[in-house]
Amino acid sequence: MKFRFPVVIIDEDFRAENISGSGVRDLAEAIKNEGMEVVGFTSYGDLTSFAQQASRASCFILSIDDEEFGGGTDEDISIALKSVRDFIVEVRKRNNDIPIFLYGETRTSRSIPNDILRELHGFIHMFEDTPEFVARHIIREARKYLDNLAPPFFRALMDYASDSSYSWHCPGHSGGVAFLKSPVGQMFHQFFGENMLRADVCNAVDELGQLLDHTGPVSSSEANAARIFNSDHLFFVTNGTSTSNKVVWHSTVAPGDIVVVDRNCHKSILHSIIMTGAIPVFLMPTRNHYGIIGPIPKSEFDPETIRKKIEANPFAREAKNKKPRILTITQSTYDGILYNVETIKAMLGNSIDTLHFDEAWLPHATFHPFYRNMHAIGEGRPRSDETLVFATQSTHKLLAGLSQASQILVQDGKNRKLDTHRFNESYLMHSSTSPQYSIIASCDVAAAMMEPPGGKALVEESLHEAIEFRRAMLKVDAEFGKDDWWFKVWGPTPKSDEGIGDRDDWIIHEGDTWHGFGNIESGFNMLDPIKSTIITPGLDLDGEFADDGIPAAIVSKYLAEHGIIIEKTGLYSFFIMFTIGITKGRWNSMVTELQQFKDDYDQNLPMWRVMPEFAAKFPQYERVGLRDLCSAIHSVYKEYNVARITTDMYLSNIEPAMTPADAWAKMAHRDVERVSIDELEGRVTAMLVTPYPPGIPLLVPGERFNSTIIDYLKFARDFNARFPGFETDVHGLVREIVDGEERYFVDVVKD
Ligand SMILES: *Cc1c(COP(=O)(O)O)cnc(C)c1O
Repeated sequence: MKFRFPVVIIDEDFRAENISGSGVRDLAEAIKNEGMEVVGFTSYGDLTSFAQQASRASCFILSIDDEEFGGGTDEDISIALKSVRDFIVEVRKRNNDIPIFLYGETRTSRSIPNDILRELHGFIHMFEDTPEFVARHIIREARKYLDNLAPPFFRALMDYASDSSYSWHCPGHSGGVAFLKSPVGQMFHQFFGENMLRADVCNAVDELGQLLDHTGPVSSSEANAARIFNSDHLFFVTNGTSTSNKVVWHSTVAPGDIVVVDRNCHKSILHSIIMTGAIPVFLMPTRNHYGIIGPIPKSEFDPETIRKKIEANPFAREAKNKKPRILTITQSTYDGILYNVETIKAMLGNSIDTLHFDEAWLPHATFHPFYRNMHAIGEGRPRSDETLVFATQSTHKLLAGLSQASQILVQDGKNRKLDTHRFNESYLMHSSTSPQYSIIASCDVAAAMMEPPGGKALVEESLHEAIEFRRAMLKVDAEFGKDDWWFKVWGPTPKSDEGIGDRDDWIIHEGDTWHGFGNIESGFNMLDPIKSTIITPGLDLDGEFADDGIPAAIVSKYLAEHGIIIEKTGLYSFFIMFTIGITKGRWNSMVTELQQFKDDYDQNLPMWRVMPEFAAKFPQYERVGLRDLCSAIHSVYKEYNVARITTDMYLSNIEPAMTPADAWAKMAHRDVERVSIDELEGRVTAMLVTPYPPGIPLLVPGERFNSTIIDYLKFARDFNARFPGFETDVHGLVREIVDGEERYFVDVVKD
């Protein structure tokens, strides 16, 4: 397979008409003649961005010829060496292995300090050997470097795909050939390219190993990732963390078991509760009036508090075994709240069998000391005696995995190790027997990318960009001044002006008020700065509405129409992420688009001008001014006091009438009826009821509707009727047209 990794030469004489210029060009020519690409630069330019390009290079040749080193005084030499050294330091922050050569006419290694020499793969003396000889030496080192880049599975898959053997196994497209037989198939083939299709193979290919049995190159890759992530065991999962969560649960939870679960968990955890027949006892997180989910207070993790919750639950208190099987918490909530895992482990001791941290949003944390103890599993972390610790991570959310790339990490207890054979029975229960090999390869590559020192540098970069974004937003705010408005970024104010500052700035301390979660014990939680929640004007932290306001739904539709897609939108907040794929250009366009929005809003420009696509779809808004539309929606939010409803509904007292599995059984047996939301009071839901935003389930099957929740559903109905295009989506609601009018229903258990 042919890759493009050029040899990079940096020499100020690269284009010069002198001896040294022609020498270096001869070398470049000789390298090209051996079949490698060469790129020449005449200066280091912007060092940092240049060093980032290093990922495209196969090696560096840095000139230290006499010209650049001035007259040869000690001072000249040290200035010239400084730029070489700075460059090498930048490259080595990310890459220990790429070959670096120095290249000079007369200077020898004697004049180069040790700290530079140590990083080199060779010192080339111009004119001592033929350019051809030097070129072959360089290419040998460059090839050696490239040959060692690919981690085990990706390497085996590339070998297999380029091997061009005829296959008789699935998939039926036979390495893409089937697509060539039809015009639309041709189009598909051209779009995705030959390699993707050649690499789409089935598990009958022995030399690639088996994901489902964890053998061969797949298992080498999992072991490689386990080493990189510092876990005792690691399993790749190709059906997302939704599946990873179910695998973990089914490996340890059986019908009638008590489980302790974050009330604001992902729906895959609730599906796990239903599937396993567990009896859930919920830990309640705090919330602020922006609708941002805060931490579960530390006191909720006290085994005594948990025991009381079990006694207060009509099903749990009847359970034979009172020791909870598993505790699952969302480690990094949607909005970026983290827990100190070591504190939780210490508090719980061995009172719970298995601790499970849903780290869908946190695979990056282990690579940077910024997150020390604020993630489940990592280097040198103490073991519990009996308790196993699991982390499930969506490689595709914040690292470089393809969609659905996920992994399960395990830390053994001192006296109890995971039995991988038994665990795999649960893995099989939830895995397709035809895993997608490109996803496995992306799990493999995503892990290899984080190999030290690259992983730390990548995380540091995301942190840095995220914090720079906050600084930029504060600067804009300061320029507009007190009498004007601007968007705020939720979170503590960065204390330092440079770099990523101190991690302690992001730890939540007692008495902090910026978060609006009430008083939180110091050191138990942290805000992950790479998740940035932007607050629009109109609502304050106490839930008080201003006279005028800008609902976030309008801002995010505006941004979408200008090419910026938002991850999540709340009432007066929306949220963006600084993944390792973020670039300066990307967040800078966010800042400029927000300024554009402000301009259009302040001028109250009509919708047909500022959001033409949206206005074409919903002509009722065509001539409405942007500001007037914001005010109209704001006043409805205010009229319904929707900030309070959406907070209260999550904190309201919810009574379980049956276990989630029993409610599910009613649905499977059609022992349910579809009831209008006007008649829901006291009924038991058979559906998972989940409003978007925030996408956190409000009611779990088996729980009773209370008036707070019904009020919210009625609000959603009225609001949707008044503002088409801005609908609040509530999963679990059935919307049907009856007699020309849209009605809202929920499937509830028959009385
Ligand atoms: C996204 C998410 C999941 C599910 O992950 P997928 O990889 O999308 O299946 C699980 N838990 C949490 C907290 C999530 O945010």
